[in-house]
Amino acid sequence: MLRLNEHYSKLKASYLFADIAKRVNAYVAANPGKPVIRLGIGDVTEPLPPVCIAALHAATDELAHRATFKGYGPGEGYAFLREAVAQHDYAAHGAKVDPDEVFISDGSKCDIANIQEIFAPDTKLAIPDPVYPVYVDTNVMAGRTGANVDGRYAGITYLDSTAANGYVPAPPPTPADLIYLCFPNNPTGAVATRAQLAAWVAYARQHRAIILFDAAYEAYVRTPGIPRSIYEIEGARDVAIEFRSYSKLAGFTGLRCAYTVVPKNLKARDAAGKEHSVHALWYRRHTTKFNGVAYPVQKAALAAYSPEGQKQTRALTDFYLGNAKLIRDAVTKLGLACIGGDDAPYLWVNTGRASWEFFDLLLTKAQVVCTPGAGFGKCGEGHVRISAFNSRENVETALARLAAALK
Ligand code: PLP
Repeated sequence: MLRLNEHYSKLKASYLFADIAKRVNAYVAANPGKPVIRLGIGDVTEPLPPVCIAALHAATDELAHRATFKGYGPGEGYAFLREAVAQHDYAAHGAKVDPDEVFISDGSKCDIANIQEIFAPDTKLAIPDPVYPVYVDTNVMAGRTGANVDGRYAGITYLDSTAANGYVPAPPPTPADLIYLCFPNNPTGAVATRAQLAAWVAYARQHRAIILFDAAYEAYVRTPGIPRSIYEIEGARDVAIEFRSYSKLAGFTGLRCAYTVVPKNLKARDAAGKEHSVHALWYRRHTTKFNGVAYPVQKAALAAYSPEGQKQTRALTDFYLGNAKLIRDAVTKLGLACIGGDDAPYLWVNTGRASWEFFDLLLTKAQVVCTPGAGFGKCGEGHVRISAFNSRENVETALARLAAALK
């Protein structure tokens, strides 16, 4: 008899954003004259940079001619994009990554979700709280955790990110094998200093662990000295895998393009203690289960590295950071403590009350939607995430309503 993967039954029944949508839809249905502004979602709002659009068109035209037609591309991505990544995203920032250590994909979500399957079922996990839910849920699905008791899964070492540690957790006293880190952070917007990341690299080296470094928001770092990549830390190439995406850099959330860096010298052991190349394993996995990103999409990603592309993507991230600054100033003026927004498109507001209660207050009094922190983990309670992904007009209107509702 066929049986289901029963680990799925441990997952929380509903998804945070589905719960939010339900409440918002009910409010809108009951209050048709009160338009709602959504500052809750993590999706971009502005169109793609013109250089990317031009590259998409040109590459699509290539597919119309026998001489330039492309069928299946290399599963790990075209060399032109992998070389651009190595040069612009790493060498230019003093970090060493070879083009053949770069795996192009259709999104960091998939890569982050899939990477765990090359590690043993009894891998000990360390995962931040609050967290981008994909890190936890994919390990639950794979059977690496026990039941969810009181909002936490047995078998995970949770890394509390709270006001007390500036929302940047230090390595725990106990050993872990696989560590998920995300900076600039979603949902908190916190960034880690070089010293804080160095402590994690030292911990990973000591425990022969691997850090999965999610740098989906690196393009928002503006503070001098804050690392954009884990590979800016000495020794990280031996212990870290990095995930990056064009989603928040260049508005590719719908187009889909990202990459994962797996250094060739990264090793993990089998049960007998023999070392194996993690790069070789990921290459096998990626090229077996994935057939590459569309050629025009990879060309569009390449265009983001051109001088004009760099200007246009910078203008895009500057625009969202401009929204973030407005939000931060307004929230601070209302007497609420908040972090993020300087080097990230998210702000993490310490509301001083239950996060769903604050969500309801903003929805009903200001018709503004935020994301309740409790949905990102136990430590998210008492906080809400406000996203800077919106038009300037919507942000300004939302902030005026917030000021009126909360003053
Ligand atoms: N990592 C974090 C922290 C994110 O917030 C997101 C998207 O919201 C992703 C990864 C996934 O990005 P992608 O669009 O490349 O799948």
